[in-house]
Amino acid sequence: MRIESDIKLGFKDVLIRPKRSTLSSRSQVELNRTFTFVNSGKTWTGVPIIAANMDTVGSFEMAVALAEHKMITAVHKHYSIEQWSEFLAQQDESIFNHIMVSTGTSQQDMAKLNTLMSAHPELQFICVDVANGYSEAFVNFVRSVRQQYPETTLIAGNVVTGEMVEELILAGADVIKVGIGPGSVCTTRVKTGVGYPQLSAVIECADAAHGLGGQIISDGGCAIAGDLSKAFGGGADFIMLGGMLAGHDEAAGDLIERDGKQYKRFYGMSSATAMGKHAGGVAEYRASEGKTVEVPYRGPVNATVLDFLGGIRSACTYVGARQLKELSKRTTFIRVQEQENQVFGKE
Ligand code: 5GP
Repeated sequence: MRIESDIKLGFKDVLIRPKRSTLSSRSQVELNRTFTFVNSGKTWTGVPIIAANMDTVGSFEMAVALAEHKMITAVHKHYSIEQWSEFLAQQDESIFNHIMVSTGTSQQDMAKLNTLMSAHPELQFICVDVANGYSEAFVNFVRSVRQQYPETTLIAGNVVTGEMVEELILAGADVIKVGIGPGSVCTTRVKTGVGYPQLSAVIECADAAHGLGGQIISDGGCAIAGDLSKAFGGGADFIMLGGMLAGHDEAAGDLIERDGKQYKRFYGMSSATAMGKHAGGVAEYRASEGKTVEVPYRGPVNATVLDFLGGIRSACTYVGARQLKELSKRTTFIRVQEQENQVFGKE
């Protein structure tokens, strides 16, 4: 047994220190980023925020709404090939810049991925997603997907440490998904005692990925707009959101009415709800349990997106970053023991 005693931080443990700046308005801030991926060799430009590949968030409707803002949706893996074909037939070419195909690592998943990719070879991103990205079998799976699809940009995760980020990039992944345990409907830390504070995971994994020319996605744990600025400030190239996008019209999930108030159901991909729905398919996908919750209904997702994009622009203005790309270079975190003043309740 060993104890590492240097301090690991979550979003709630820090704030970003403001810096002198020549920017006069947040409207001057450029949120688009351009990345060239290390293994696929492809280039992408857009706003690097991704809807999570959860049943209730990674829907086709979400993809259409977020593409308007140049963001990406990791479409969940439970749509049939027919549903995919029907959806793609209604879109123009630009949608391919804004959608990812998700897959697990079973033989069944691989077979479905192959059918989908041969029906729609224009699909540019494959997201290979498991709860625990530390197994050799997972690395081998990533390697075989890379061999089969040399020109497709490959996302792989989830991990939280630099050595595993490096191993996955060397196995052929372009972008590594980082996060074990921070999710809003995740109970990994409760059920297993395993996890890593998300901001430190992002800082350490970004350093490892950037050293090899790769990128990372900070996946999970963003509960408020300020957390996105902190994740980008810590070095995340992309951010994946679940809970912050739940509860909207574009999110799948039943609308429930109780005592005159409306809610939408939101659940983890290894919750009893997800397992019941997908009859056994999900149990191996997510090793640990997830929660099922009801979130207040929030209408169309557009207003929420504008709110958090405005927050990131404003953070960039506070530290003098003209482009999102500069935010991490201009970020100094200060450790704090207070965040929002909640005398009059939570925002
Ligand atoms: P959020 O943005 O809601 O905080 O986090 C979303 C992320 O939580 C997803 O992208 C995924 O990585 C993770 N997640 C989703 N469902 C589950 C689950 O059932 N269990 C665990 N451990 N993580 C989950």
